[in-house]
Amino acid sequence: SCIPERIELCSNRFLAAPPVPPHFNSSNILLSLETLSLDGYFSFENNQYAAKDFGNRYHFLPSAVLHPKSVYDISSTIKHIFQMGSGSEFTVAARGHGHSLQGQAQAHRGLVINMEFLQEQEIKVCSGELPYADVSGGQLWINVLLETLRYGLTPKSWTDYLYLTVGGTLSYAGISGQAFKHGPQINNVYQLQVVTGKGEVITCSEDQNADLFYAVLGGLGQFGIITRARISLEPAPKMVKWIRVLYSDFSSFSQDQEHLIASQNSFDYIEGFVIINRTGLLNNWRSSFDPKDPIRASQFSSDGRTLYCLEMAMYFNPHDADIMNQNTERVLSELNFIPSTLFLSEVSYLEFLNRVHISERKLRAKGLWEVPHPWLNLLIPKSKIHNFAQEVFGNILNYSSNGPILIYPVNKSKWNNKTSLVTPDEDIIYLVAFLSSAAPSSTGKDGLENILTQNKRILEYCATAHLGAKQYLPHYSTQEEWRAHFGSKWQVFQKRKSAYDPFAILAPGQGIFQKGN
Ligand code: FAD
Repeated sequence: SCIPERIELCSNRFLAAPPVPPHFNSSNILLSLETLSLDGYFSFENNQYAAKDFGNRYHFLPSAVLHPKSVYDISSTIKHIFQMGSGSEFTVAARGHGHSLQGQAQAHRGLVINMEFLQEQEIKVCSGELPYADVSGGQLWINVLLETLRYGLTPKSWTDYLYLTVGGTLSYAGISGQAFKHGPQINNVYQLQVVTGKGEVITCSEDQNADLFYAVLGGLGQFGIITRARISLEPAPKMVKWIRVLYSDFSSFSQDQEHLIASQNSFDYIEGFVIINRTGLLNNWRSSFDPKDPIRASQFSSDGRTLYCLEMAMYFNPHDADIMNQNTERVLSELNFIPSTLFLSEVSYLEFLNRVHISERKLRAKGLWEVPHPWLNLLIPKSKIHNFAQEVFGNILNYSSNGPILIYPVNKSKWNNKTSLVTPDEDIIYLVAFLSSAAPSSTGKDGLENILTQNKRILEYCATAHLGAKQYLPHYSTQEEWRAHFGSKWQVFQKRKSAYDPFAILAPGQGIFQKGN
């Protein structure tokens, strides 16, 4: 059946929790954890992986890792720690795929919950009028895609990379080239099951426990652990027409991007990226794209110039190929890109969505995947994007970049403002992502310190020029900065923290609240 059973926890299992010792330092908390009777288990050694993340710069070792087999394991463990009160510094971090950047999924001397181990619920797909999938919070998006495709269905909104967990991306937003049309992933969820910082298991949605539902979406893991999510689906296309074109002028580039996102009938995916000081660019594209005009494309030289690539995709099924080609031609004819730089490709839907995995494999083979990633992600209001581009691409980064720089607008009319996500206060905002890597051998301008200095300069510019920018995947060192980040949403955020995680047990790696305060 498509009606999922509400998880009713058997209360006598809670009662079975052992008595809590009178003085709660970390070592007797650990000892008392061992006495819990669970479906899964704790590991107290060989937990180094839980002190690592994709950012590869912050390494805080936990005292234990919980490998939960059931929601009960998570709720009874947190309930047990909650019962010890606020006196100890013992904290708990849910760890999805550990692809955060600055230790956000780590818990120094605390407990990490290995969410990928939570395999209690299979992916359950319901194909009705409003199709959906019920998935574990520790499930990888690639698995959600593979399973839903078996039913001819797919989630609507994505991230560029699919080896991330559902709970991990829903704790931020989940933004990619479909977000202009469908909103981010947090706006494509019907229902959540959450274990709060008190150990309660609560089902929430727009209509049921709505405050918790909106708190958790984009909530940086502060209010509860997402153990299950009901993801909205749509019919899956079989194929994707994938297109890239270049601009040498930022104004035409951004004007065309904004023109495209204004229409629901243009493309299904719209992104873009900046190319600084690259040679032989179009030759690299030829391995996966075909130039529309091979002769003119071969005469195009990118050398030295800053270029802007608009990337678009149109979904289709083989029997609709003619209509799709006509639509594509029509929309492309409205754009002002450099004509010789039109490159096209047709790939399967799966191949398109899983495109970053191919880059991952190549980088892994060269030992360049598990390196420090000093990423910086920003949301910039449309009214300030030209100033931003001029200063950042024309001045701060004018000689090179150390990885892709994504830049694309989204229309916030599709975004639900009730979630915890913080965005600039305009209808159209740009996501700008500096996805830098610092290879171990890199020094000088490609070295880690230099990239961090560059990031700092970009942030300083945003502040001094009063751009109204917000960090996405935010990272701050002080509560003062967090307050400024949340702005008018801070009070609600703080109130929700007191309601759902009053002892600040959860997600210590975000550095927003400190246990015991
Ligand atoms: P983790 O790093 O394990 O956790 C992140 C945070 O969420 C931690 O605070 C953790 O405690 C908390 N958390 C984890 N699981 C749960 C849960 N079940 N319940 C509550 N809290 C939880 N983001 C985008 O929006 N768009 C993109 O296109 C995009 N592309 C990316 C590409 C790559 C290669 C990488 C490395 C990251 C990308 N991201 C993107 C960022 C990504 O969405 C976040 O880093 C996300 O948190 C990673 O998921 P994870 O499962 O690894 O989370």
